[in-house]
Amino acid sequence: MDSENTEFDIHQERHGTKQERDYEKALRPLQFSDFAGQEKIIENLRVFVAAARMRGEPLDHTLLHGPPGLGKTTLSNIIANELGVGFKTTSGPVLDKPGDLAGILMQLEEKDVLFIDEIHRLHPVVEEYLYSAMEDYCIDIMIDKGPGAKSVRLNIKPFTLIGATTRSGLLTSPLRARFGINSHLEYYDHKTLQRIIERSAHLLQIGCDKEASLEIALRSRGTPRVANSLLRRVRDFALVKGTGKIDLAITRHALEALNIDKYGLDEIDNKILLTVIDKFGGGPVGISTIATALGEDAGTIEEVYEPFLIKEGFIKRTPRGREVTALAYEHLHRTPAEKAPLRPPCDSSPSLFDE
Ligand code: ADP
Repeated sequence: MDSENTEFDIHQERHGTKQERDYEKALRPLQFSDFAGQEKIIENLRVFVAAARMRGEPLDHTLLHGPPGLGKTTLSNIIANELGVGFKTTSGPVLDKPGDLAGILMQLEEKDVLFIDEIHRLHPVVEEYLYSAMEDYCIDIMIDKGPGAKSVRLNIKPFTLIGATTRSGLLTSPLRARFGINSHLEYYDHKTLQRIIERSAHLLQIGCDKEASLEIALRSRGTPRVANSLLRRVRDFALVKGTGKIDLAITRHALEALNIDKYGLDEIDNKILLTVIDKFGGGPVGISTIATALGEDAGTIEEVYEPFLIKEGFIKRTPRGREVTALAYEHLHRTPAEKAPLRPPCDSSPSLFDE
């Protein structure tokens, strides 16, 4: 079945404008062999997919977690393609009522993949219905209300649920326990991102120098979605202000014009660092205090932003909270304030009785 034609188009809010979504779709790898990086996960998934095909059974339910833009949707699509089955997508927040879920489940063909993005945002009632669907391939739906109400059991064809989440900590344990395969996607190193950029440039038929693809990779926050979207912006600059070809000079010019710093940190990353430095003397400070000061959700900072800042050495976790590092001070052109010693040394502190 053609996976692209069976998708429910419900990703507007997360994937930006239709143009941007079409761009992402055009660059999305369709097979394991096109998917760069995440070697360990891919190696294991290849085995699980091959085994499911050999047994003629659906693949076990799979949970993919990790920050946004690392390839969870892409990988789910690839799994369906490699299994040779249909692919339907929806997301936690749009499944308002059990009926919405039942509607989608009833449309599934045998062994199809159902992808639920942001699965941590499922309504608790809908989540309860999902349990029996995942375990026994059936769902008990209440028809009518009041004295005439009756429960009807609907059988569903055996299927694979792939859940994606940026906030695995918010998943309830009964839901988590129902996934047989559980994979955490990591940020990409710049060599892998460079390969992704070169592949995208090739698909878009844009000439792109090696130094230029490396420069974009270095500023992509370890994230393929950011890499592809920077490539798109640099392409515009190359067309209007350059020769049409992406070289290092036009790339640097474009990235400067776009205010992308040399580490690829985005506005929120920088705000987090500045808040810790300016408001909390560089830390240590608790994550919920940082979140309140920024007006952001603590969980989002912890699971979406902080891992990259830690990985790149801007923040460190200590038992007393988060602390920024010397690299953060240097990057933001701040100087660490002299921290008062907890207890002044006896011999150097002026005494009240000194003359
Ligand atoms: P997520 O679902 O984790 O937010 P997506 O799967 O939507 O991320 O990926 C965002 C974009 O990044 C996709 O359009 C895809 O082209 C690209 N991408 C992600 N991972 C890879 C990868 N490993 N190799 C090549 N391109 C990738």
